[in-house]
Amino acid sequence: MTHEQVPPMFEPDAESMPPERLADLQQERLRGLVDRLLAAGGVQAGRLGDAGVTSGAGVTFGDLNRLPMTGKADLWGGYPFGMFAVPLSDVVTLHGSSGTGGRPTLVGYTRADLRLWARMCARALAAAGAGPASIVHNAYGYGLFTGGLGIHQGAIELGATVVPVSGGMTARQVTLLRDLRPDILACTPSYAIRLGEALTEAGLRPGSGLGLRAGLFGAEPWTDALRTRIEDLLGLRALDIYGLSEVIGPGVAAECLVAADGLHVNEDHFVVEAIDPASGQPVPDGTPGELVFSTVTKEALPLLRYRTGDIAALRRGTCGCGRTLVKMSKVTGRRDDMLVIRGVGLSRKPARWRRGFGRASASASRCGLWPPAPSLGPRSARRCG
Ligand SMILES: [Zn+2]
Repeated sequence: MTHEQVPPMFEPDAESMPPERLADLQQERLRGLVDRLLAAGGVQAGRLGDAGVTSGAGVTFGDLNRLPMTGKADLWGGYPFGMFAVPLSDVVTLHGSSGTGGRPTLVGYTRADLRLWARMCARALAAAGAGPASIVHNAYGYGLFTGGLGIHQGAIELGATVVPVSGGMTARQVTLLRDLRPDILACTPSYAIRLGEALTEAGLRPGSGLGLRAGLFGAEPWTDALRTRIEDLLGLRALDIYGLSEVIGPGVAAECLVAADGLHVNEDHFVVEAIDPASGQPVPDGTPGELVFSTVTKEALPLLRYRTGDIAALRRGTCGCGRTLVKMSKVTGRRDDMLVIRGVGLSRKPARWRRGFGRASASASRCGLWPPAPSLGPRSARRCG
């Protein structure tokens, strides 16, 4: 890809910020987060107090791995509104997932949170080469699930034309893909395969009636082998997008068209760590660890050091696209598998397929999408069976 073909960033100042400036910004925002959590009271304020933190002023970025963590159990414990840090009158929308065991996970957004989310999804779309002239065929589900509305708002923020087709009714999707000739497709990877097969049956193939150039596929784990299959079927560049409703939804991280070898994390808003899931200590860059996010600018549901349970490796350095944002690998497993492998003695839970953006997807297991993750050993591979 030549320089002329590198698509413009949506927020170049932030996305290509020098690492030293980014670290300063993250520290300043981390201090603000600590102050807001302390002011809001609740479980996170209590834990900060127990850790001897009474103000954000003295907190440095180097202190991050000594600050208390949060997890899904906190959201369940605080259901429905107990974890919110603003009055309900400031919350303008809710999203959530059914979670496991029927326990819902509910998240809230202020107007500023929605604007932030839209900008993060606009960044992801721009990284895939979308722009104001683009048509975005958005086949993520619309509803409490964050996928549909997240991409929808991001496309509008970018100035593109979004087609809010949502999931299902595949025959109608084929008609819209043929007639509107969108250049960007957004949906789960398993649905991309289904769409590709339906298009083939309808006689629509890459270079013959389709205008697709790139796709943003997430909410399920998927492999590079599946990337190749999707690209062959649809004639587009298949890119990974990552997010979970607890952090904000899609747009936490996304691959760029230029490299497509890992997902740039929007770490100016979502400070990311990779930790050893057993010890809680940071793992070196390049080593798989559990992803932990601090939502340093979110208002309604700010989370300090939220443990995702997702295993991935971080990698730093300037990308060919010009972004300096840290990259995360594809998610290669779940925390529970890693702990069992290491003999820590936690009971193995039933396979809980990636609920990225806030929804479980059993189809991933049926399609064998989950990578065997050799570094995690044979138990992880068992999940593909
Ligand atoms: Zn890049």
